[in-house]
Amino acid sequence: MEKKKAKNIGIPGIESPSDVCEDINCPFHGKISVRGRIFRGVVESIKPSKTAIIKWERRVYFPKYERFEKRFTKVNAHRPSCLHIKEGDFVIIGECRPISKTKKFVIIGKVGENERA
Ligand SMILES: [Zn+2]
Repeated sequence: MEKKKAKNIGIPGIESPSDVCEDINCPFHGKISVRGRIFRGVVESIKPSKTAIIKWERRVYFPKYERFEKRFTKVNAHRPSCLHIKEGDFVIIGECRPISKTKKFVIIGKVGENERA
């Protein structure tokens, strides 16, 4: 069979994976388009099949104490098999159309250790 080519998803700084997958919800080899918000976070769990739970920190300011409180955001994101995501990886996720009731993000790339802020 002819090898499928990864498409360019049109987001600067995102490279297409060298691996190929058959996932229709993969942004590189399927039909999902990425548009909207983009976040970076850590993969907390990959237990659900084709899904990863991504967590990142945000800070909320409290004027009374003049300090920031740490809060965390957690979202479910689609995990295409061509990216080989593991727990603890630093990833970039992009917003897409709802894939299921709770999934409206898809992982579009990994962040290398020296690129982390
Ligand atoms: Zn793929």
